[in-house]
Amino acid sequence: MLPWPKPAGGPHGSVCHFCDTLHVADPLPEGMAARCQGCGAVLYQNRPASLARATAFSMTALILMVVVHSFPFLVMDASTLRTTLNLTSAASALIQHGSPIIGVALALFTIVAPISLASGLIYVCGPLLFGRIAPGAVHVAKLLNKMEPWNMIEVFLLGVLVSLLKLNKVADVHFGTGFWAFSMLMISMAAAVASIDRDELWDRLEVAKS
Ligand SMILES: [Zn+2]
Repeated sequence: MLPWPKPAGGPHGSVCHFCDTLHVADPLPEGMAARCQGCGAVLYQNRPASLARATAFSMTALILMVVVHSFPFLVMDASTLRTTLNLTSAASALIQHGSPIIGVALALFTIVAPISLASGLIYVCGPLLFGRIAPGAVHVAKLLNKMEPWNMIEVFLLGVLVSLLKLNKVADVHFGTGFWAFSMLMISMAAAVASIDRDELWDRLEVAKS
């Protein structure tokens, strides 16, 4: 594994996002964080095995996404009727039954966004593990940065739990395998995104490009 490389030239600077203080960005040992001298906010962190962890957690997230779509998300029993629900059927039911915007938003934020984010991270971080850069990786990394807030798995999961409390009054509701896979997907995505510092990713891309 390559240590966090710095692009040629320097000294490199780092500006605090909270108080605008400019610092000289010295290289850090793995596991350490640089903090602002003015306000104490974290400037950048050298996270251990960052590229390997970002790639591995993203791959896990993609595998879990397959499990989420292969098994029921929720199983509802009301008298003699049993209904199973998964993410795509929930989105298409919303589209067909008068809430097309919510249905499309559900599909975008809980299916398209996490798949794109995980695939993008693998595309950018995978080749960097070997000191190489994939074609267009810089553009993909910029896109990932913009897309990150739109990955709303946690919000959806919270919504499911709240609606379950209400649904429980009219039907017997159980979590399916898809729900548990989705919960693990949420943890994997959070871990993948948190595995690598943005400054480190830019530096690695810069060095691999040159
Ligand atoms: Zn500061």
